[in-house]
Amino acid sequence: MNWMPGNRRFAVRLLAAALVWSAAGCVTGPQPAPTATTLPLPLEALQAKLARLQPVDITASVAGLAPQDRQALDKLIAAAQLMDPLFLRQVWSGNEALARKLAQDDSPRGRAELGYFRVNAGAWERLDAEESFLPGVPCQKPPKANFYPEDMTKTEFERWVKGLAPAARDQAQGFFHLVRRQPAGAPGAGQLTLVPYSEAYREFLEPAARLLREAAELTTNASLKRFLVSRADAFASNDYYASDVAWMDVDAPIEVTIGPYETYEDGLFNYKAAFEAFVTIRDDAECAKFARFGGYLQELEDHLPIAPAYRNPKLGSLAPIRVVDEVFCSGFANMGVQTAAFNLPNDERVIREKGCKRVLLRNVQAAKFQIVLRPIAAQVLVPESRANVDFEPFFTHILMHELSHGLGPQQISKHGHTSSPRQELKDLYPAIEEAKADITGLFTLQYLIDQGKLPRDLERTLYPTFTASIFRSVRFGLTEAHSKGFAMIFNRLMDQGGIVLDPATGLFRVDIEKMKAATRQICGELLTIEAEGDYARAKALLKRYSVIRPAMRQGLDRLTTIPVDIAPNFLLAK
Ligand code: ZN
Repeated sequence: MNWMPGNRRFAVRLLAAALVWSAAGCVTGPQPAPTATTLPLPLEALQAKLARLQPVDITASVAGLAPQDRQALDKLIAAAQLMDPLFLRQVWSGNEALARKLAQDDSPRGRAELGYFRVNAGAWERLDAEESFLPGVPCQKPPKANFYPEDMTKTEFERWVKGLAPAARDQAQGFFHLVRRQPAGAPGAGQLTLVPYSEAYREFLEPAARLLREAAELTTNASLKRFLVSRADAFASNDYYASDVAWMDVDAPIEVTIGPYETYEDGLFNYKAAFEAFVTIRDDAECAKFARFGGYLQELEDHLPIAPAYRNPKLGSLAPIRVVDEVFCSGFANMGVQTAAFNLPNDERVIREKGCKRVLLRNVQAAKFQIVLRPIAAQVLVPESRANVDFEPFFTHILMHELSHGLGPQQISKHGHTSSPRQELKDLYPAIEEAKADITGLFTLQYLIDQGKLPRDLERTLYPTFTASIFRSVRFGLTEAHSKGFAMIFNRLMDQGGIVLDPATGLFRVDIEKMKAATRQICGELLTIEAEGDYARAKALLKRYSVIRPAMRQGLDRLTTIPVDIAPNFLLAK
């Protein structure tokens, strides 16, 4: 269900910030947290933290929408706005009271605290090590969030689950039920019990359902109408299956995602889903481009630089991809690093039946490109390469990266048994697979250029843009699959002369002809490792190349003042 294990949201988890004090003002357990900061933070420190996220307007043209759909859009934004307070409640039991208290303080400090609280959907820093930045709250973000009783232990939960009937056990370990204690005076007081989301969050879900139904009345699109009505039903029934299926079938100018989805907020078991919403406008031109690329897939597979026996003579069907512009997002989707793409639903039953859908938020990618990637290019590339960094190749490569996950070996034979690269490469698979998608994306774009299916001029911008992207990805360390894969590719490209260090300036230059040759070779190597399920070779490759060498380190050291991400200002939600 997840094309990018551990990284569905392209989230970066930054290394702990440089600001570390001793002695805590937060609430520690029996042992003070070793890295706890002194609270309250100095105002300048708070403002510096906020400044890592650069405010930017996020909107889209609604000129193409029918008047009825334009009205529906406002209803959907209003419904989506209800996911913010709902999610705040899911994060921590004290969040709502804390938000009210912060909102009363109109001083510069009060405003900075509230601003940073909103960015983090709580008092813990999501860009850093999830430590508190406000006094009077737990020093570390509580892993149980507000999904389980604060005094419940894992052991107690597991013992309780064992004694439940199968249906209740599924709910206890499922997405949509809270675990609570029976109140004093009730039968079984103090025992664990289940509360459906539909009850726990009724004050938000009822008005949200009403708005979804009003939007459904307005829109003329039948598939959107079906999703909105079934999702409104789900908010009351707590059964999301039918509406997840309806979401897969939405084919409409407005693409909306609203409900409980991702489980990362449940740091205890990853069972419980957090509420979020994305309200977006479909980009028909980009969707058409993507569909066109999709039509080339078998041809691309047939020309992959590997032994013909390893090519797949008949590719399976492809998960649908929607390219959209975001006009609003909320809840789990709007905190810390902004989501630029997502892959849903998570319900395995729906995935088995309908597959999953990948949504790329083009205007969010564009904003990140302007605010993060362009300044990075200015710090690491020589002027002539820098001048060729552009959004079009950046986004086209993202599309091709996604398509490339479906290319190359998927089912392999190992010691006479049917297996898969994932099974054979185990812990190394995410890094190898992400690197494969990156380099195969580059290789296949070059193939399409050479076949006259893409303009020759794309070559000029593709490779410098790709090189700048590598720095964006490894900027915060080699902590996840994308950055490990990118670092390996960078070092290989350097060793083969595709990326050249200018010793006088410490900047990098791109040699397009050598890039092409190196790309072909690395692509073939990674695909062969996957085809042969060669764990030892994957291990050796990553050990040798997935490192930050001194030249790259120097480049990375110049990036410290560049914003980490964007803070969206949704113009249509005013
Ligand atoms: Zn990927």
